[in-house]
Amino acid sequence: MNLANKVLLALGLGICIGLAINFSGAGSIAWVDTYLINGLFHVAGKLFFNALQMLVVPLVLFSLIPGIVGIGDIRLLGKVGSKAVVLYIATTAIAISVGIGLAALAGIGEGLDITADQAFEGKQAAKSTVEIIIGVVPKNIIAAMSNGEMLAIIFFAIFFGIALLIKQKESKALISIIEQLNSIFMQMVEMVMVFAPYAVFCLVAKAIAELGVDLVVRLSGYFIVVMAALLIHAFVTQMLIFKVFTGLNVGMFIKKIRAAQIFAFSTSSSGATIPVTMRTMQERFGVDRAVSSFTVPFGATINMDGTAIMQGVATVFVANLYGIELGMAGYVTIVLTAVLASIGTAAVPAVGLVMLTLVFEQVGLPIAAIGIIMGVDRIVDMTRTAVNVTGDAVVTSIIAKSEGKMDLTVYNDPNIGEVHELHLEEFEKHGT
Ligand code: ASP
Repeated sequence: MNLANKVLLALGLGICIGLAINFSGAGSIAWVDTYLINGLFHVAGKLFFNALQMLVVPLVLFSLIPGIVGIGDIRLLGKVGSKAVVLYIATTAIAISVGIGLAALAGIGEGLDITADQAFEGKQAAKSTVEIIIGVVPKNIIAAMSNGEMLAIIFFAIFFGIALLIKQKESKALISIIEQLNSIFMQMVEMVMVFAPYAVFCLVAKAIAELGVDLVVRLSGYFIVVMAALLIHAFVTQMLIFKVFTGLNVGMFIKKIRAAQIFAFSTSSSGATIPVTMRTMQERFGVDRAVSSFTVPFGATINMDGTAIMQGVATVFVANLYGIELGMAGYVTIVLTAVLASIGTAAVPAVGLVMLTLVFEQVGLPIAAIGIIMGVDRIVDMTRTAVNVTGDAVVTSIIAKSEGKMDLTVYNDPNIGEVHELHLEEFEKHGT
């Protein structure tokens, strides 16, 4: 069985075991909780998550720098950059409209009587637009790297890449070292991915085991609409956009993006998924590194279709719950603020909910009401992260195709670039 199918199987098994623990009430047995859920599942999942995150910064740096040297043309960078900004914002706006539309149609929250059982405060992570813009130029690159400030890292890599391009004659040795580092980090990503089936199982089993099923039932209107909107956006809207702009085979897209989606789903972090998305784009989709090494980390940072959908649905739900009339102006405000909020949302678990405070404030909804949907947000977060990552892949493909930077023979080959198991003989072979 190939790795992609093993990961899928692990996902299915993780869901089943998680549900079994949940329904049997085994989660409240002390040893299951201590040794299984918060022991084995937690530790194995976290190790994998950390290993992926460890690779993000060096991978972005060492992939983007030679990518820029490789383009050899700064104008292309400008074109790729401006297309990325426009497409990322436009797709997010479409996403949130899907969310609002579906929620308004379903009339969720109307006539319900629910109060928040968990208080929600916490605007601490919400950054204003001005702060985001200022943060693009880091005053300390080491601090930016250690904090994983992606926009700052991208800025530094581009700056460095341009300087290297200008000094390319004198810097041949350095360019080749960076190239080599890039290929070593890609190899490390592949090696981490080999452990994915076990890690995905642990991450998903833990999340589902801890899910409050009674909450899901109580909030079923919100939950079903959010999940439906996310699925519709991932499999209908985004695929339509992909087809219209690239003319490529949609089935192939769905098949090849699956691994990145599962990684995003199980880690709830588009940031931690960057290595997998980047590898998928380059090795499986045939997208030139010059494009993907920029659009993937950039997209993971500013493009959040799934998060915007959740924010749209949540706003309509809470407004209906409190009997607040939003009106057309309200809806337009939601779209605008959610687009900005999704740009400011860090690509890590659960931040989308924190950013929702911005949207609520703009349209005058009570922030404490976010506590109502908090209980089911774990699963929604997992799903919306998978949609976020799918959006990055769609936009990356559109840009690469339009710039002639996509190798279609690679894209159309279903098996190319699959991760293979590591065999001991391989180490021995390479070691001698
Ligand atoms: N978890 C999401 C991501 O990393 C962000 C969010 O909506 O909370 O893409």
